[in-house]
Amino acid sequence: MPTGHLIGGAWVSSPTTFATYSPTDWDWKLADISRGDATTADAAVRASLEGFATWSTYSPVERAAVLRRLADLIDHRNDDIAMVETVDMGFRHESMRERLVARGALNFRTYADIIESHEDETWDVKNTRHAVLRMPAGPAVVITPWNAPFMLATWKLAPALAAGNSVLFKPAEWSPLSAALLAELTVEAGFPPGVFNMVQGIGEEVGASLVADERVRRISFTGSPETARHIGKAAAENLVPFTAELGGKGPLMVFADADLDLAARKAAEQYEDSGQVCLAGTRLLIDASVVDEFREAFQRLTEAHVLGDPRNDATSVAPVVHPDHLASIGGFVDRAKSEGDNVVWGGKRREDSLHYELTLIEPASNNSSIVQNEVFGPVLTIQTFADEDEAVALANSTRYGLTALIFTGSRERAERVGRAVRAGIVWVNTFLVRDLQAPFGGAGISGIGREGGRYALEFHSDLKTLIIADDTTI
Ligand code: NAD
Repeated sequence: MPTGHLIGGAWVSSPTTFATYSPTDWDWKLADISRGDATTADAAVRASLEGFATWSTYSPVERAAVLRRLADLIDHRNDDIAMVETVDMGFRHESMRERLVARGALNFRTYADIIESHEDETWDVKNTRHAVLRMPAGPAVVITPWNAPFMLATWKLAPALAAGNSVLFKPAEWSPLSAALLAELTVEAGFPPGVFNMVQGIGEEVGASLVADERVRRISFTGSPETARHIGKAAAENLVPFTAELGGKGPLMVFADADLDLAARKAAEQYEDSGQVCLAGTRLLIDASVVDEFREAFQRLTEAHVLGDPRNDATSVAPVVHPDHLASIGGFVDRAKSEGDNVVWGGKRREDSLHYELTLIEPASNNSSIVQNEVFGPVLTIQTFADEDEAVALANSTRYGLTALIFTGSRERAERVGRAVRAGIVWVNTFLVRDLQAPFGGAGISGIGREGGRYALEFHSDLKTLIIADDTTI
């Protein structure tokens, strides 16, 4: 498969490379990938301006046809994409195949439908016709993290392309391969040259060059709050609108009136894929009156997890993406121990694979760093609350605000607590369900702006108000 950059419809290589290894076996080098630099970024931006000049003149129907062709090609290559993603990044093949790659195709179909059915808002006032037009904004930089890279990329690229923008896509250096497959498919789908550009490389190098380029008109970023701060500065310098979907430290709240089996099952699911999921509810907040019953079921389900090779369907917990990330998870747990937190189970890495043992921690205090910071690994904390007010106060006590999970048997409580918790998305008695029309994003340091449905299209468009006097004649 291609290891270079797709620029202006052609594959180009850089003289220097970086290696990508498989988390399934760290001795397995998968590929040497081109390491883009400032010159690569400049060439890609120039190509994207040419692509934009063509693509922005396509009608929504013409754009939708290309997006649908891409969706069909993704479906056709589902298995290949899923396997590449699994060996490169480590997520379970089954969930890639059944869920994430299929959702990648759905992202393009959904935006094809949205742009085809869109009607400009218009109204008549004072002898004029007002119309609000969605104009393509220009080249858009799309930067993605290493977890679930294919699905995340499609979710961000689809609205940018649907809006009529060209894209400059930079995948993460720890999982670069599925981006190459996606780029190949865009050529087959028939995007004009320069509309879909993909550059490989290191964030601080080619990524930083792309976001600093003043010819870019949108930046859509998913990753860590630390990187978002750098990108935000570059965006501010050039006055470029920017969205950031960042880390999370979601509460998973279990009230005494909840279905405790369901709550324990969903809590145990937070360990899947080694907890490398931004949406995960990693802080278990349990009503003190049911904590023993909950813990018994939760422990049983945790023990039933199978840590193993992600290509094997029996595996429920994938390895961690990279040895450096494994070390970072270990660092969080070691710090927790030194701060006096109690490790209930887990608390160490496995010696024969890139797995960290499923870990549960009872923090000494709500201020413990393990409660207040995203670990992005299979590490959950457990705390109890006496009443609803305390539950909400604990839920809202970190700087994050991406997701919250609530388990309750009361509709009134679902509404009340659902409104009171600070989060971009709140799930009650469910998890990971979101219609693609719904907005997605975070409060606090979990993000800026919203993507999803028409919200992402608006972000990628320059709205124009066109006012025509009624007596205008030709
Ligand atoms: P990261 O911030 O280290 O890297 C993300 C991307 O930014 C990578 O492609 C990287 O190369 C690039 N990058 C790094 N420095 C850059 C710079 N100076 N300029 C331009 N680009 C730069 O994040 P990560 O470790 O890849 O991903 C994990 C983080 O992403 C976690 O915090 C996780 O919660 C978050 N995440 C959020 C969501 C969401 O939707 N909210 C989804 C997935 C992951």
